[in-house]
Amino acid sequence: MDCIFCKIIDGQVPSNKVYEDDKVMAFHDIQPQSAVHVLIIPKKHIPSVNDVQDGDWELFADIHSAAVHIAKELGIAQSGYRLINNCGKDSGQAVFHIHYHLMGGEQLGPLNIK
Ligand code: AMP
Ligand code: ZN
Repeated sequence: MDCIFCKIIDGQVPSNKVYEDDKVMAFHDIQPQSAVHVLIIPKKHIPSVNDVQDGDWELFADIHSAAVHIAKELGIAQSGYRLINNCGKDSGQAVFHIHYHLMGGEQLGPLNIK
């Protein structure tokens, strides 16, 4: 399977890792759109949230838990942050392995809905 995030998990592609446990990994986005821009991914390859099967929903608790942990570690928990998932064509999803964008470290603009 030709998935860039699976290759990052496997160590075939380098990343600037900020967090890892048995279910979840997180690393800095290669093209940051904010002062802090981290991607949080499940280690299991699932293309998008539309593809999640029964039995895998707890991954979202794991991802959210990791997000709070990382925000505290990076010192942005109090200043605030955004956690964003893109799903499918209209969202602009470019990498088809579920990921959440953890963004903060500065005052963010309004959510860009268009
Ligand atoms: P999305 O548009 O939600 O699919 O976001 C994909 C994100 O993955 C973009 O913000 C990219 O900059 C980021 N990205 C793509 N390749 C890499 C990589 N090798 N390491 C880190 N981030 C990446
Ligand atoms: Zn993958």
